[in-house]
Amino acid sequence: MSSIAENLQAVARAIVAAARNAGREPREIRLLAVSKTFGADAVIEAMAAGQTAFGENYLQEALDKMAELGRIAPELQPEWHFIGPIQSNKTRLIAEHFAWVHSVDRFKIAQRLSDQRPSHLPPLNICLQVNISGEASKSGATPEEVPALAQQVALLPGLKLRGLMAIPEPAEDEAAQRAPFRQLRELAEALRAQGIAIDTLSMGMSADMAAAIAEGATMVRIGTAIFGKRDYAN
Ligand SMILES: *Cc1c(COP(=O)(O)O)cnc(C)c1O
Repeated sequence: MSSIAENLQAVARAIVAAARNAGREPREIRLLAVSKTFGADAVIEAMAAGQTAFGENYLQEALDKMAELGRIAPELQPEWHFIGPIQSNKTRLIAEHFAWVHSVDRFKIAQRLSDQRPSHLPPLNICLQVNISGEASKSGATPEEVPALAQQVALLPGLKLRGLMAIPEPAEDEAAQRAPFRQLRELAEALRAQGIAIDTLSMGMSADMAAAIAEGATMVRIGTAIFGKRDYAN
């Protein structure tokens, strides 16, 4: 089995290759290491290999991990990104403990995060999650809702609107993977044309990273390819 450090190197190489193929600069693409279901030890190992940003889906698990890291490695200051579904009674803890939230899909949640962001912290970086492939079961604002939502969120003082995020349906071949990512990029371009300053496209996971980079991803969220398969029994 390969180590987290080796996996991080392999992912970094794959990012460079995908960027070059797309005629893009590799440094335009940031790697978010999705550490859900893995412990503080895995975060420490990844940080020793130079990784700084970590994504978490489940609030309680993330808070426990942060507390453990604070005990065993208080010198480490990871940048935490919340990427999971948000219930409104969880917004205060998210506003207090994270630097980024990628999964805002309605104004009420954004308003609470803004109100609850501690004033000694910089504004919370926000991506709006978009339900780009249109399945009823998933979270995310519809593409039609996004322009008005973006206008409103951009005005909230505790937040900084950074861009859009999507989790498309799994697809086998790269052409099929690229279609929803292209839609997300075009939606971001439409927002910019309306004067909304955003710089982030959070898209691409272990199985579809190259397709996302080909369509303009600026942040890829990678779990399995770095930490290995998740075991939800733990
Ligand atoms: C789990 C998760 C990821 C990472 O997925 P992998 O396939 O393990 O790379 C990325 N984004 C979100 C929102 C996730 O929930």
